[in-house]
Order: sequence, then structure tokens, then C-alpha cells
Amino acid sequence: MNDEIRRSVAALCARFPGTYWQDLDARRAYPTDFVAALTQAGYLAALIPEIYGGAGLGLGAAAAILEEVHKSGGNGAACHAQLYTMGTLLRHGNTAQKDAYLPAIARGELRLQAFGVTEPDAGSDTSSIATRATRSGDVYIVNGRKLWTSRAGHSDLMLLLARTTPKERVAKRTDGLSVFLVDLRRAQGVTIAPVPTMINHATCEVVFEDVAVPAANLIGEEGKGFCHILDGMNAERILIAAECLGDARWFIAKASQYAKDRVVFGRPIGQNQGVQFPIARAFAATEAAALMVAQAAALFDANGACGPEANMAKLLASEASWAAADTCLQTHGGFGFATAFDVERKFRETRLYQVAPISTNLILAYLAEHVLGLPRSY
Ligand SMILES: Cc1cc2nc3c(=O)[nH]c(=O)nc-3n(C[C@H](O)[C@H](O)[C@H](O)COP(=O)(O)OP(=O)(O)OC[C@H]3O[C@@H](n4cnc5c(N)ncnc54)[C@H](O)[C@@H]3O)c2cc1C
Repeated sequence: MNDEIRRSVAALCARFPGTYWQDLDARRAYPTDFVAALTQAGYLAALIPEIYGGAGLGLGAAAAILEEVHKSGGNGAACHAQLYTMGTLLRHGNTAQKDAYLPAIARGELRLQAFGVTEPDAGSDTSSIATRATRSGDVYIVNGRKLWTSRAGHSDLMLLLARTTPKERVAKRTDGLSVFLVDLRRAQGVTIAPVPTMINHATCEVVFEDVAVPAANLIGEEGKGFCHILDGMNAERILIAAECLGDARWFIAKASQYAKDRVVFGRPIGQNQGVQFPIARAFAATEAAALMVAQAAALFDANGACGPEANMAKLLASEASWAAADTCLQTHGGFGFATAFDVERKFRETRLYQVAPISTNLILAYLAEHVLGLPRSY
């Protein structure tokens, strides 16, 4: 099944070559045509159950879709959130919410592409977010400032994490947070401003000023939002890891081909062990990471606890893609810096995954504390 998906995604991506992405990158423009093509083909509704009009596939299939996008030289960041935010909505949304939104998302009429968690003063430490949602009758009044809310300008809905009970009044600091589905088309008092970055990522600052969000749009239980978004976050880590695998495979293929073709001192550069060994090492790291991504996705799909595996998949795959990127750039010599080769663009793009959606250090701290039982370091 996944092989068939990979083949058809690869065929779709072939319509969007490197020149398409280079042009967008230069203009910092959104890949509207590419996202429309993926939507029309049904890939962004892959996880929506068939009764709501989706494909009813699991996270393993979503991982295959995003890996292929990246392996083709493209980038799924323009639309990948619709696949990972589903984890929260499908598992914790009520029937009325699913009926109201899922069929329209599946038809491609509604976009759920924004996930608002990070704030200027709260990135790694999610429990310190200051955005407040205060109940007033049948609405919550939201005030606060989110940063790095990617695709907010290209989405109809946003999954928003806000504090409903002050931190000093809860037993555990992750208690008292709640998750809402904000309809950006209707919400009054929301200001969205793009944040220029080193990559073409459509990321934004989003300010909420007395925004009334219907209480009916609270997902799951008030105060339990952190637990509810963990499903989305684990899905996000697994899917980002799949994108890293795609990047790594693109870099390895590109480096291998160039090393065969480029002749220096009368022989292909790939004949030198100094050139071929880093490529072979990156290949081995990628294949090892792929096993962890597959294991994490299988656990997620079986509703099993997958925190350690999702985190390890993201750690190993992002390190493999970064090693492959560095090796690919080095193999290309000066041409690695030329935009026409795509290497420098992909190099910049894959660097993000050492930092977002969770930084390498925080994954190591999680594994040390929660898996190995070492003392909490922060
Ligand atoms: C392009 C882009 C897109 C993004 N998209 C989204 C999005 O759509 N939605 C969203 O909510 N967020 C998004 N983010 C935010 C991203 O999740 C955060 O940048 C990330 O979680 C890190 O938070 P921070 O930037 O505040 O870094 P900080 O938390 O300030 O950390 C800075 C550095 O210090 C290190 N550090 C911090 N504490 C410790 C510790 N205790 N031990 C060891 N090291 C530590 C970190 O590892 C990191 O390297 C995006 C970010 C970027 C750059």
C-alpha cells in the first residue's frame, strides 16, 4: 500500500521540479499550486476516517507521503500540519466538532494548517505560555501573542494552546492548559504578520486581542490541553522525521551522482575514499533512522505509547539529514553554493529540524529523564 502511495506522490512531485521551488524560495512565496495538487489528490486528507470523506489511512502512510515530497526535492512544510494536527482532533475532538470540520477538510474546502503553541517567551518550555483563555458565558476570551505559527496566513483553522488556569494555581505546571480550534475566517481581533526567515516557511506572529472563541470549540477537557496536544506532537515528530529521511535520501542520491560525474585529477571524485565514505556513512545513518521512524509510526497507529520512539525517530532522522546535507554540499564543492543545484536550499531547509518542532537538546533531556530515569535537568 505504502509503495503505491510513494509511486503516485513521486509522480505528482515530478510536476514541481527544482526550478519551481527555487523561484518560490527567491520570492519567499507560498507553493499554492503544489498544495492545491496535493489537496486535490486527497493526500492532505489521508488520516481523516472514510466516514468523513478521507482516506482513513494511518500515520505510516502519511509519513510515506511526506518522505516522498522531500525525496523529490520539494518541501512539505507548506501543508504538513494538516496531517499532524489531526492526531489531536481525531482522538480528542467530539462528534459535533468532527461533523462540523472533517468533511469540509476532506473535500479540500477548509484548511487546518496552523498549530499555535510557541510564544516569544515560551518555546521549549511549553508550560510557560502566557496566552490566556478566560471563560465568559458560551465563549472563551483569548489574549496573547504566538510566534512561529507557520502557515497561519494560509489556513482557515488553527489549533491553539492557551492557559485557562494560571500556572500558580495548578498542581502540575502542564495542567491548566487547554486546546481550541480557532476559526480564523470568523475570529475578530486576530492579527497575523509574516516573520522573514532563512528558509521559505510562511511562518508568522499571531496576536490575539480579546478574541471570542466559542466554548464549543474547546477540544477535549478544559485544563488537559497539554495531554491532548501530545498526540499531535508525537505525530508531528514522526512526520518531520519522515521528511528528514526524504531530505537525506535526496542529498545522498544527489551527492552520489555528482561524485560519479565530476572528474578532478583525471578521475571521478567519488573514486576517492575521502569523498565516498561520508556519503556511505550518511546512507547507513539514514537507513537506521528509517527503522525507528517505521517503529514509531506503527506504535502510533496501534494507539500505543510512542513518546520515546517518536522522539528518537526525530533525533536520528534530523541528524542523518543534516549529515547528508553537509556531505552533499561538500561533495559539490563550489557548485553546492549555486542556487541552480538546489543543494544550498535543501541544506538551509533541513537545518531547521535540529531546532523545530523540538530541539535536539530537549529530546536528549526527555530520553535521559523519562526513559533512563536520570534526574530532571531543567
Ligand atoms: C521556521 C520555524 C517554524 C516553526 N513553526 C512552528 C509552528 O508552526 N508552531 C509552533 O507552535 N512553533 C513553531 N516553531 C517554534 C519551534 O517549535 C521552537 O523554535 C522550538 O520549540 C524551540 O523553541 P525556542 O525557539 O523558543 O528556543 P528556546 O526554548 O529559547 O531554546 C534555545 C536553545 O536553548 C536550548 N535549551 C533550552 N533549554 C534547555 C535545557 N534545559 N537544556 C539544554 N538545552 C536547552 C534549546 O535546545 C535551543 O537550542 C517554529 C520555529 C521555526 C524556526
